Amino acid sequence: MKLYMQVLIALGLGLKRNWHIFVGLILGIISGVWLHTHQNPMIMATLDFIGQLFIRLIQMVVIPLVISAIVIGITSIGDSKQLGKLGTKMIFYYAIITLVAVVVGAGLALLIKPGLGAATYITSDIATDIQSHVAATIEAQRGNLLNIILGFVPKNPLSSIAAGEMVPIIVFAVFFSVALAKVGEINRPFVSFFESIFAATMKITDWIMCFAAPGVFALTAVAVSHFGIDIFMAISKYLGVLALGFGIQMFIVYPIFLKIFSKVPVLMLYAAIAEAMMVAFGTASSSATLPLTIACCEKRGISHKVTSFVIPLGATLNMDGTALLQVVAVIFLAQAYGVVLTPLIIVQVALLAIIASSTSAGIPGAGLITIALVLNGIGLSPEQLVAGFAFLFTIERITDMMRTLVNVTSDAVVAAAIADNENEINYDLLNNPEEYNEVID
Ligand code: ASP
Repeated sequence: MKLYMQVLIALGLGLKRNWHIFVGLILGIISGVWLHTHQNPMIMATLDFIGQLFIRLIQMVVIPLVISAIVIGITSIGDSKQLGKLGTKMIFYYAIITLVAVVVGAGLALLIKPGLGAATYITSDIATDIQSHVAATIEAQRGNLLNIILGFVPKNPLSSIAAGEMVPIIVFAVFFSVALAKVGEINRPFVSFFESIFAATMKITDWIMCFAAPGVFALTAVAVSHFGIDIFMAISKYLGVLALGFGIQMFIVYPIFLKIFSKVPVLMLYAAIAEAMMVAFGTASSSATLPLTIACCEKRGISHKVTSFVIPLGATLNMDGTALLQVVAVIFLAQAYGVVLTPLIIVQVALLAIIASSTSAGIPGAGLITIALVLNGIGLSPEQLVAGFAFLFTIERITDMMRTLVNVTSDAVVAAAIADNENEINYDLLNNPEEYNEVID
C-alpha cells in the first residue's frame, strides 16, 4: 500500500468519532453541491439508501429507549415532591429558552427585514403541485389547536407505540412511571426489566453510531443536492437571519443561561455533545438523535436520573430552534407581501410559535406543518398563504437541519443546568476531555 494511503488510514483510525462525523458532514455538503449540477440518479439512490438506513436504525431504538429511560428516571426520583420540583424547573427552563428564541427571531426579522422584495421569487418559483398539497395542510391545521392537545392523550398506548406517536407515548410513560414510583418495592421486577431494556438499547446505539459518519454524509449530500447555489443566493437574507438567530441562541443565549442558572462550562458541554449535534444536523430529527443525546450527556457526567427524565421530554416538547424559525418565517412572509404587523400581532405570532413549536414532533418537517397555526390570522390572503407556505417547503430541509441542531443542543443545556442544580453532575468527567473517548463503553 502506498505510504500516503497508510498515513491517511492511520489518521482516520486515530481520529475521534466526532471528527469522522464532522468530515462526513463537510464532504456531504461538498458532494451535495456537486450533485446539484451533475444529476446522477444512481449516486442519489445509493446515498438516499444509506441515509435512510441510518435513520431507520436509530429510529428502531427510540421507542424502547424513551419508555425505559422515563421509567428508570422517574422511579429513581421516587418521591413525588422531588419529581414535581424537577418537572416544574424543567418546564421553567425550557420556557425561558423558547421565549428568548422567539424574541431573538422577531427582533432580527424586524430589524433586518429579509422579506422586503421577496414576493417575486416566492410566487414565481413554486410549482403548482406543491401549492395544492400545501393548501390541504393549511386547511387541516386551521383552528386545530384543541385537537392537537387532545391528541397528546393516548386512547390506547399500544396503538400509539405502534404508530410511533412520541407525545402520547411520553404522556403514558410519565403517568405509568409516577404510578410505579408510588407503589413502592413491588415495582422492583418491572423497573429491573426496564433497566435491562435501557442498557441494551444504549449498546445498540453505540453499534449504530459506527455507521454515523457515512449516514450523516449521505443525508447531508442528498439534502444539499436539492438546492443549488442559485436558491441560496436568492434567499440568502432569509437564511442569513435564521443562521444569525440560531448562532445567537447557541453562542450567546445558552452560555448566559448556563452562567445564570448553573456553573456548567458551556464549551465543555458542547464538546461532550458534539456527536449528538452533528447527528441532529444530519437527521433533522430530535427524536432520532435522542439515544445519542442521552449517551453523550451521561458519558460526560450528567446523571442518569436527570438525563432520562429531562432529555426525552425536551426532545418532544422543547423546540426553541423551531419556534425561532416560525417567527422569522411568518414575519418574512408578511414583509414580502407588504402586510403590516402591529405590535399586538407580533406578540400573538410569538406566543403561537411557542405553542406550535412545542406541539411539533421531533421528526423532520414537523415544525413546518405546525407553522400553519402561526400563519393563520396574520392577514395574508389565502393565495398568499399557500404560495408562502409552499416557498417554505422548498427550502425546508436545510432550515430543518439547522433548527434541529439548536433544539437538541438546548435539551442538553437544560439537562446540564438541572443536573448542576440538583448536584447530579460529575464535573471531573465533564471537564476532563481525556476521559472522553467513545460514547458508551
Ligand atoms: N425537525 C425538528 C426536530 O426534530 C422539528 C421541526 O420540524 O422543527 O427537532
